[in-house]
Amino acid sequence: MTSARELSTHEAGRIKAVCLDIDDTLLDSQNSARRAFATLTGNDAAWPVWQRITAEYHARMTAGEIDFETMCLWRTRDFFAAFGERLDEDEVRARERRRMAAMRECWELFDDVSECLDWLRASGLAVAAITNAPGEYQRHKLAAVGLAEVFDVMLISGEYGVSKPSEEIFYAACSSLGLAPRQVAHVGNSLEVDAEGAARAGMHGVWLDRSAGDSARGRCRSAGVSVISSLYELPELLVCDLSYPREEIGEVLRGGGLVVSG
Ligand SMILES: [Mg+2]
Repeated sequence: MTSARELSTHEAGRIKAVCLDIDDTLLDSQNSARRAFATLTGNDAAWPVWQRITAEYHARMTAGEIDFETMCLWRTRDFFAAFGERLDEDEVRARERRRMAAMRECWELFDDVSECLDWLRASGLAVAAITNAPGEYQRHKLAAVGLAEVFDVMLISGEYGVSKPSEEIFYAACSSLGLAPRQVAHVGNSLEVDAEGAARAGMHGVWLDRSAGDSARGRCRSAGVSVISSLYELPELLVCDLSYPREEIGEVLRGGGLVVSG
C-alpha cells in the first residue's frame, strides 16, 4: 500500500503541465521556410547560403540588436548581394513580401502534434507554449494552423521581452501556470535553447531530436534533460520517466510503487 509520505511525494512531484516550443517542435518551420525560399529563387540549390545568413541575423535578433522585420529584410538583401545582385530597398521589400506570402501558404504541423495534444488534454495536464518570435507574427501563425486557442498559457518572447534560454521566461511560464518549475516539463527541438534552458530553471527539459531515429526515449543528454525523437514518445516519457522527482525514482521502483511494463 502506498504510504502517506509516498503519496505526498508523488503528488508533489508529478508533472502537472507541459510547455511546448512552437517552431520545429509543433510546426515544420524549416520545411515551410525552404519551400518559400524555393519560390523566391526558383529552386533551393542555394539553401545553405540562406541558412548561413539566417543564423547570423537570427543571433543578432535574439541578442536584441535588430528586430524581426529588419532581420528578414537584411537577410534577403544580403542573400542576393552574395550572388552579385544589388537590390534597392523597394525591391528587397517586394521579394521579402513574396517569400513571406509563400511561407504562409505552407505552414503545417508535424504529423504527431494532434495526437500528442489530445493526449495531454485527456490526461488533465495544463499545456503552455514558450516561443521565441515576434508576437503578432507568431499569433498569426498559430491561428493559421489551428493552435490559437489550444494553450492555457502562451509566452512569446517578442511580447514578454525576454527570449529562451533565459531562465526568466521559463519562470514566468511556471508562475502563470501556478506551478513550481519541477512540476513542469518543457519540450523543444533545441537542446541548448529549450531543453537545457528549461533544466537550468528547474523544469524537466525534454529535447525533441527528430533526427534521432526510431526511439530516443530514456536517453539522457545532460542533467535534467531527457530525449525523445517524436512527440509520440512524450506520453510514455511523462508517465514512466517523469512522474516522480528524479531523486525518488529509485526508491519508488524498489518499493513496487510504480510498475513499468516493457
Ligand atoms: Mg524551435
